[in-house]
Amino acid sequence: MTIRVLPDQLASQIAAGEVVERPASVVKELIENALDAAATTIHVDIRAGGRDLIQVSDNGHGIPASQVETAFLRHATSKIQHASDLDAIQTLGFRGEALAAIASVSRLTVVTRAIGEPSGTRLVLHGGITQSQDQVGAPQGTVMAVENLFYNTPARLKFLKSITAERKTIDEHVTRYVLAYPGVRFRLTHDGRVTLQTNGTDNLLDALLAVYGPETARELLLIEPEEEEERLVRVTGYVGPPSLHWANRGQVTLFVNGRPIKDTQLTYAIIQAYHTLLPTGRYPMAVLFVNLPFEQVDVNVHPTKTEVRFRQGVSAFSAVQRAVRKTLIAGSPVRAVEGWSRPQTDSYPGWQGEHNTWPSQNQNPLDLDWGAPPPIPELTEPSAFSHQPSAVSPEPPTLNTQSSALSPQPSALGGNRLPIMRVVGQVGASYIITEGPDGLFLIDQHAAHERILYEQFLAAWERHNGQSSLPSQGLVTGVAVHLIPAQATVLGDQLDLLARLGFQVEPFGPNTFMVRAIPALLRQVDPAQALQAIVADLEQGDKPLQDKIEARIIRRVCKTAAIKAGQTLSVQEMEALVRQLETCHNPHTCPHGRPTLIHLSVAQLAKEFGRI
Ligand code: ADP
Ligand code: MG
Repeated sequence: MTIRVLPDQLASQIAAGEVVERPASVVKELIENALDAAATTIHVDIRAGGRDLIQVSDNGHGIPASQVETAFLRHATSKIQHASDLDAIQTLGFRGEALAAIASVSRLTVVTRAIGEPSGTRLVLHGGITQSQDQVGAPQGTVMAVENLFYNTPARLKFLKSITAERKTIDEHVTRYVLAYPGVRFRLTHDGRVTLQTNGTDNLLDALLAVYGPETARELLLIEPEEEEERLVRVTGYVGPPSLHWANRGQVTLFVNGRPIKDTQLTYAIIQAYHTLLPTGRYPMAVLFVNLPFEQVDVNVHPTKTEVRFRQGVSAFSAVQRAVRKTLIAGSPVRAVEGWSRPQTDSYPGWQGEHNTWPSQNQNPLDLDWGAPPPIPELTEPSAFSHQPSAVSPEPPTLNTQSSALSPQPSALGGNRLPIMRVVGQVGASYIITEGPDGLFLIDQHAAHERILYEQFLAAWERHNGQSSLPSQGLVTGVAVHLIPAQATVLGDQLDLLARLGFQVEPFGPNTFMVRAIPALLRQVDPAQALQAIVADLEQGDKPLQDKIEARIIRRVCKTAAIKAGQTLSVQEMEALVRQLETCHNPHTCPHGRPTLIHLSVAQLAKEFGRI
């Protein structure tokens, strides 16, 4: 036989086997093209599980009339130009294969009108061969209608599953994009019926609501982004509480830089974070966004672009595991001492009396009722949570022993409240030991104080509605703080916000600021330290929303203002701290998610001493 280069159409059909496995692959590619075209509305209309029709309509930038035919050629793309572009791919598509592949195995009609062009184009291809091309009137955007998929590749057609099975896979794919792009209005119809619809509010919770319904969405735990330091890998999203479990891994949805991906390692990291919390053979749900610099991931691994390779796989793995675990711990009432087993039924004898405020009813859609506290597994990465004792500041801040008038009042709904505790003493100048109705507690004084200040601050902030300024306390002598120019620029932009929070800061020469007053609530804060910490936070943000900045600054100054580990406290100070912690809405973790206290129950003590 003679060796010859295959005709383009045949080559496309062969290549199509990799890209277009089934109707859902077509849906996926067309949605990705719409998203890459910056569409804000995407309609997906399916007939017979995609066998008869897959139509994706968008209001994106459209394809210029002169390029419509080119778009269907193999390796034709507008998204990359040079080999170096492959190093940092920012679009969902880049291989220039999908349209050629889809067209080669279907009857395809595209109607598109590009931004700025007076009319649209209608192009019809059968098996990749152009049948007709006309000028037509059309709204801006693109409609791709794919009919009779695999009509010319009978082998493929035979491998299609039932209409229901294909439809389900389509739903799964569409769902992922709905979650990944909450700012886009999606509508999915099957045989004329709307089955999924979002309104593009750009709020992930709305998308989760559309997908999972209110019952489940209400239970989900928000992953608070880590703000401690700049991290290469950012993990955001929601995870389900251990009470929500599923028969398979299908509800673990992962996105890397906005791309839905399959990754056994990262999925494992999530599942492992739930270790011992779920019944055997059950799986958690999670919607996790992993974001990292584009050059840190290689997306050119597989024709379907559903796999990625990380340049630093370990940091992605540990970032995911840490984020999920931290969220689960934050959602947990009191963290059990590691390795100390606590039977599920051991629900605090004697707790049912007057202090019966816990376990609670849900007071917040995202604070779940855990019932009996689940045992939290041993951390594989103790360093991720271990408290870093900060150096004792030269002038140790003093604790405000007068119960603050601004302390949040116990909410009518009860909540994750602590029992009344009696102070026993202090260990290592860092931990307070207390006795409660069922055993003893170890309280991390720094984390606890951070939590107290945070809630007091938030309560005051809410009372002022973010409008007028919070009360501040003037400094006898102003404190001058010098910054590098870039920092001065970001700080200069936020002086009004700082003023509203109670910081009076004014420019004082080039790149220098004078702190004249600090929030009255935080009179123990070191003004220069607080300002530096705020700047560090402002600097790392990639233009976060203003309300995020506020929350972040508040958390940051509370951390700076909180008493440090290593500071000896008087009995009165400890008592004041414990009383204030008892009034907190979320006393179990510091605002950054670390536990404030751990509990040793009477039963645990008895067990450890071999009494039972
Ligand atoms: P890729 O997405 O990898 O570039 P495709 O074969 O999917 O390759 O698409 C080829 C080109 O057609 C794209 O690069 C883009 O310029 C154009 N295109 C495809 N779909 C759309 C769309 N819905 N809106 C605007 N342009 C599109
Ligand atoms: Mg594409």
